[in-house]
This record gives sequence, structure tokens and C-alpha cells, in this order.
Amino acid sequence: MKQIKRVLIVGGGTAGWMAAALLGKLFEGLYEIVLIESEAIGTVGVGEATIPAIKKYNELLGLDENEFVRKTQGSFKLGIDFVDWWRKGERYIHGFGVIGQDLGWLRMHHYWLKARPRGDVADFAAYSINTAAALANKFMRADPKMAESPIGHIAHAFQFDAGLYAKFLRGYAEERGIRRREGKVGSVQLREDGFVDSVTMEDGETIAADLFVDCSGFRGLIIEQAMQTGYETWTQWLPCDRAMAVPCARTEPFTPYTRSTARTAGWQWRIPLQHRTGNGHVYSSAYISDEDAEAMLLANLDGEQLAEPNRLRFVTGKRRQTWNKNCVAIGLASGFLEPLESTSIHLIQSAIIRMVRLLPDTAFDPATIAEYNRQTDFEYERIRDFIILHYKATERDDTEFWRYCRDMEVPATLQRKIDLFAANGRVFREDDELFTEESWIQVFLGQGIVPRGYDPLADIKSDAQVAQYLGNIETVIRKCVGVMPTHAEFIAKTCAA
Ligand SMILES: Cc1cc2nc3c(=O)[nH]c(=O)nc-3n(C[C@H](O)[C@H](O)[C@H](O)COP(=O)(O)OP(=O)(O)OC[C@H]3O[C@@H](n4cnc5c(N)ncnc54)[C@H](O)[C@@H]3O)c2cc1C
Repeated sequence: MKQIKRVLIVGGGTAGWMAAALLGKLFEGLYEIVLIESEAIGTVGVGEATIPAIKKYNELLGLDENEFVRKTQGSFKLGIDFVDWWRKGERYIHGFGVIGQDLGWLRMHHYWLKARPRGDVADFAAYSINTAAALANKFMRADPKMAESPIGHIAHAFQFDAGLYAKFLRGYAEERGIRRREGKVGSVQLREDGFVDSVTMEDGETIAADLFVDCSGFRGLIIEQAMQTGYETWTQWLPCDRAMAVPCARTEPFTPYTRSTARTAGWQWRIPLQHRTGNGHVYSSAYISDEDAEAMLLANLDGEQLAEPNRLRFVTGKRRQTWNKNCVAIGLASGFLEPLESTSIHLIQSAIIRMVRLLPDTAFDPATIAEYNRQTDFEYERIRDFIILHYKATERDDTEFWRYCRDMEVPATLQRKIDLFAANGRVFREDDELFTEESWIQVFLGQGIVPRGYDPLADIKSDAQVAQYLGNIETVIRKCVGVMPTHAEFIAKTCAA
């Protein structure tokens, strides 16, 4: 067994620096780690909203959360507000964390479904501490000492400035011995067996390594341009292929959530940060022109436009193998799923952790590589299904784009989930898939998939008992939200930039 000694990360976007920071923390002194990035090429410069799992990455680095939020002009995120997705004029929040409280064997929504026809239930939003707090623009962190109260179960993520985040991680990584090499990679040399031998910089220096981490963005400099690994496209289910991002001045109220508003051929995001609001329009070029997409985005900013739009093109899908021989592709080099549920940074984080868990020696055992690819494919495909659900479960028929989405066939793995929920409100989280039952339930109900029935076990409780149980949850949540500070107050007190 011969251990790897040198790791070369190509790319200094969010993916490259997240990889460098964690590898630096874990292997300081053990490996020589070099990161190449090119200021002339730059980064995509977007990627501002996250999901709660990022707290795990921050913990692994040992970050102080307040410092992290301060340095990235960050804000807190309790969920995503989906506007006009099911029908125009309808909205719902996909809140993180738990919904209500289980009773007996069952999740709360079965009792809600049972009581709903009688009309004595509140809107589903009233039973989630995250959603109720979001709607009131309130925020506080979960208090672990209050496990019996909804306050003990608030689940949060962050919204931050992607440029500041990469800068923050770069400082962290460099303090842990990562060597940064500025410049453009001009060519990649492969060995006869197809393994990567080295890269040569445009200035002539050749840099060899044992393990190559390709974080070079959409181009996939090593994994695709040199190794020709292949790419699986999913555009038949997710037809958006372009985006435009533009910042605007921050406006009130300072919401603790991301907003996603469905437009005529895609959707627009709104991400409130401390110093500005991030906005973007993700759209399908087959159904709307760039000019119309830009006009739509700019007409729907809620503050003064602060810069010219950043225009991006992408192909939704994934590399056929994200780990090929001695190259692991992470970030946009590995594939792309639109940011509807803010999952890209999570995919970066989980790829890095998976790579560490399956760290190879110089033999690059094929079983290890196969296991990495199996886990990655599963994670990607299940997130893909969850995103497709938002498009498929719509009653919108006002444009050709929405009619296509409504009528398209979806992957069998998703159709199975839709059918199961539509019958009796059941959903099961499979293996380590990212989204929880609560996430699926909220999107199903929010997008008009109301089950025909509920779990028969809910009938063990009488109507009166169910009404009391639901009423208690709603009352407790309302009281908890009442004592929480506003999002703006919380930030001013703990982590103002
Ligand atoms: C429109 C849009 C919105 C998004 N929103 C979100 C979001 O809200 N939440 C989320 O989690 N994710 C989001 N993402 C995804 C997120 O932006 C990316 O996952 C993240 O920025 C990682 O990018 P990256 O580091 O892989 O690539 P990049 O940022 O493109 O970095 C590539 C790096 O490689 C370097 N490089 C390339 N070629 C060479 C070369 N020849 N020589 C030397 N260096 C080279 C570049 O200089 C750069 O440093 C969004 C993506 C898009 C397109």
C-alpha cells in the first residue's frame, strides 16, 4: 500500500476552496495540497442560498457561526417561499425542519388530512415553526435546552455573498498550509493507462500529483476536456438552460427566507443579504428570448439595480462518472442542477466528505471508485426528482413552457413517490436521500397534490381529539413565534457585518 502524497485542486470557486479548506483542516502536514486558480478566468460568482446541512461542514471546519455570517454579509434562511408554482396567485413555503409533532405512529399531516374536510384546520403553514416564523419575518436559532418546545426545533441555513464566502474559505485554507498557484492551466497530460499525470500551466510549469480534484467549473477541464468521461443530460425533465443574476439594493422587510417566483418560462430568485439582495432569473431559452428574460428580471427587482446582469448558460445533468481513475470532479465540473432548492453547495460538501471517507491509496481501487460513483449518482438523482416535482405538479397552463412541464413524463422513481402520496399521503425517505419526508410533504401539498385518503391509523383518534391535538400545535407555535426577535433584530444583535 502506497499512500498518496500530493493532491492538486484545479479551480478556486466555491467548490475548490471548500475542498481546500476541509482537506487542509483534516490533513494538514500529511499531504501536500496545491490549488490552482485563474483570476483571468474568474468564477461563476453566484450561489448564495444554502440548506441546513451546511452547518455540518462549518462544524467540521470548526467555524464560529457569527463570524462566518458577519464576514460573508450573510443572513439566515428558514425555507423557500414558492410563489405562483402550483397556480398563479398561490404560494407556499417549504420550511426546513419538522412539522408539528408526530402522534402515535403517524406524522401530523395524516391528522390534518383527516380534519381538513370538516374545515376545522388552519393552513398547513401554521404547523411548522420554520414556516410560521418565516411568514412573520422572525428568526432565532434553535435552543437545544428547549427540546420539548418548537423553539428547540428551528432549523436554519444561510444566505451569503458567494464571492465573500470563497474569500473567507481561502483565508482559512491558506492558514492550514494549502498552497495557491495563480495562473491558467494550458494542458493536461494523461498516462498510457488513462490516469492523469500532470497539468502544465500556460507559463510552462508542469505540476504533477497523485490525486486530481477537478473544480474547474462547467468546462470540466480534466474530467471532460482531457478524460472525456461523458455527460448525462436531464433537460427533458428540467428544460431551463440559462440564468441571469443581478444584485439590487436591500429593501424591507428583511426576510429570513429565499423567494422563488415562477415566471412564464422559468423562475426568479430573491435572496436577501445584509448589504444587498441577490436576484436571478433561471429560464428556458427554447421558450423565452434572452431580451425578454432580462426585461422580466429587471422589472421585478424590489430595489435599485446595483450591477449589470451576469449571464450564464448550463446543461442540467451529471458526469457519467464524477470520479474517474485518479480524478474526482466536484462542483459544477461534476454536473449541474438548477438552484431551485439551493442544493449545489450541498452537493459540493457531500462530495468532499464522501471523497474523504473513501480516500484512496495510489492503487485507486476500482471498488472504492465504484462505491463513490454509486453514492453520488443516488444523491444527484433523488435531488433531481425533488426539483422536477416542482415543475410537474402544476396546474399552470398559461404558457407553452408550463404546459410542457405539466404534461411531461417524469422519472419512474419520482412517479412512484407521487402516486404513493396521492393515494394515502405516505412518503418514505429512502436510504440517505437528501430531502426529508417533511420536505416532500410540503411541496406535494403546496403544489396541489392532496391525497385521496389518509393513513387509516389516524382514525384511532376521534375528531375531537384530532381537533385538540392540531389546535395545541398551532397555539404553541403561534406563541413561540410571538416571542422571537425579527430577523433584522437578531442579526443586528449577534452578527451584523
Ligand atoms: C445561476 C446559478 C445560481 C446558483 N445559485 C446557487 C444557490 O443559490 N445555492 C447553491 O448552493 N448553489 C448555487 N449555484 C451553484 C453554485 O454557484 C456553484 O455550485 C458554486 O459556485 C461552485 O462553482 P465551482 O467552484 O464549481 O465553479 P466556478 O465558480 O466556475 O469556479 C471554477 C474555477 O476554476 C478555475 N479555472 C477554470 N479553468 C481554469 C484553467 N484553465 N486554469 C486555471 N483555473 C481554471 C476558475 O478560475 C475558477 O476559479 C448556482 C449556480 C448558478 C449557475
